[in-house]
Amino acid sequence: MKNNFTLTLIKVFLTLLILSSALWQTARLSKENALAELEQEGRHQLSLYISHLQGRLDKFESLPELLATNKRLAYQLQHPQDREGAEALSRDLEKINQISGAADTYLMNSGGLTVAASNWQSERPFVGRNFSYRPYFREAMEGRLGRYFALGSTSQRRGYYFAYPVRHQQQTLGVVVIKFDISQIEQDWSLSDDRFLVTDPDGVIFITTEGDWRFKSLQPLSTQAKDRIRAGLRYVDTEIEPLALSTVESIGTAIRIVELGPEEGRRFLMLEHEMPEAGWKVHILTSYKTVSGQMRRSLLLVLSLFTVLLLPALYLNQRRRRLLERAEFARRAKRDLELRVRERTQELTESNTRLSSEIEEHRQTGKALQQTQDELIQAAKMAVVGQMATGISHELNQPLAAIRSYADNSRALLQRERKEEACWNLQQISQLTERMATISSQLKLFARKTSGQLVSVSLPAAIDYSLKILAPRIKEVSAEVRLQLPQQEIFLQADMVQLEQVFVNLISNALHAVEEGEQRIIEISGSQREHLFHMAIRDSGCGIEEAHLKRLFDPFFTTKSESSGLGLGLSISHRIVEGMGGTLEAKNHPEGGAVFILEMPLAAAPEGN
Ligand code: ADP
Repeated sequence: MKNNFTLTLIKVFLTLLILSSALWQTARLSKENALAELEQEGRHQLSLYISHLQGRLDKFESLPELLATNKRLAYQLQHPQDREGAEALSRDLEKINQISGAADTYLMNSGGLTVAASNWQSERPFVGRNFSYRPYFREAMEGRLGRYFALGSTSQRRGYYFAYPVRHQQQTLGVVVIKFDISQIEQDWSLSDDRFLVTDPDGVIFITTEGDWRFKSLQPLSTQAKDRIRAGLRYVDTEIEPLALSTVESIGTAIRIVELGPEEGRRFLMLEHEMPEAGWKVHILTSYKTVSGQMRRSLLLVLSLFTVLLLPALYLNQRRRRLLERAEFARRAKRDLELRVRERTQELTESNTRLSSEIEEHRQTGKALQQTQDELIQAAKMAVVGQMATGISHELNQPLAAIRSYADNSRALLQRERKEEACWNLQQISQLTERMATISSQLKLFARKTSGQLVSVSLPAAIDYSLKILAPRIKEVSAEVRLQLPQQEIFLQADMVQLEQVFVNLISNALHAVEEGEQRIIEISGSQREHLFHMAIRDSGCGIEEAHLKRLFDPFFTTKSESSGLGLGLSISHRIVEGMGGTLEAKNHPEGGAVFILEMPLAAAPEGN
């Protein structure tokens, strides 16, 4: 999980790295391209502009030299007192000025005083004024073509001056000057998209297509420079402020990206070119917008391309991840299932083992219980036998005494040879031994162990047998046993020995109950109820105490003396009956005495009956 996250982070990081480097490269290349194009275009425009400027200058450059050849100029300088001549010259100069399209044409003497001027008729004519402080004058006086550009001190118009020496026989007499208005140049180019500016050697903007920039310096001027400019009166008394132009980036010496303000539209590519003869530096400022635009377009293109390429890649990656996740999920589900199955199998095996051992334990317990039960039954039987011991001994002693007297009689009779009588006595002996054999066999039968098998058992036979066993006791108590059973033979689903034991127990208890009473009646009645046979063994005893009713079937509950009762009879009978699928209950009869209700499942008559 953590590894996956790290891997995704690395992928995102790499993608971003590739994207940013692609964008950076694109930006760089597109900027270089756009700049190269812009530079080319700028250079072209700049060269056109310079040609235009040069053309303008060229037009007037040779004019002073041509004028200086006119003898009248030298004459006038040699004859300053000739006022008429001066006026005529001024008039001629006015005409020449008109024809050439110059702003002013004038003649100065060697002291710098204007002696004739084309504007002799204007409000502020040059005639009589001294311009010796102008550098062009000095240059011309030194014998070369003087050039200068300045704001006209009188006209307040920007002009370019060409001055040429007027000579006579190797002597410089004065200077002829032609001044032309350069504001015209600005007008010619004002419609261009590009911004042009021409600066003087101090970097002061002198000609520009942007009116606001005029007389501003490209960089802040030092105080000395300012003082020098003020002294030279080039810009009369105009205060030179720096133009708020900052360089963003310099590309080579003559190319830079400049900014005029924070807005994007005020960023330019600036190219410059020297015009050494004129003392000018010409600059072109081309809008940087195209570069930004081209960069934006290229970046957009790269971004789109990247998106187009990245989207399918992302989709494929996503799909691959989903497939992997699904496979992982299936793998995990399978593993979980296997684990659960293994755990469940383990649990089942354990519980199976547990169950097996519990079953074995139960079987052992059952076996032990069965054994205990059998032993208990046996013990109870023996108890009954013990109870009956007096009756039995009485029962056996009587015939034994009779046998003895019959034997004595037989011997005496045989001695007297009374054979017939002796034979009768012997017959009685034989009958008595038969009766004793019956008694002992019945006791033997009763004492035998149960088989535990449920079979079809005849109810009357079982009752009959029980009564036979108890016959000595019945006789002893002098009880009357009344039988009220259906006519037809009844068969019960039972174990013969156990059923007989139940009857022996119940009747024996009843005998005990009636023993002391005046009436000694035991009533055994029965009737069929659906698949059950319902029996009531009622006695005329004094019944069972209400408090004893609940505990009657508890083992070892007895009200009898230790010698005569163990308290096992009813508890064993109850278990035997339940074991055979029947019920045994006890209650008191409303008319007195106890009633034991026994219900047993009926059975079909055994085969061969
Ligand atoms: P025991 O006969 O050894 O006492 P039983 O389980 O057979 O043991 O009987 C338990 C007790 O139930 C007897 O002690 C007696 O108090 C009472 N009982 C049983 N049968 C009767 C009956 N028919 N009438 C009155 N009481 C009875």
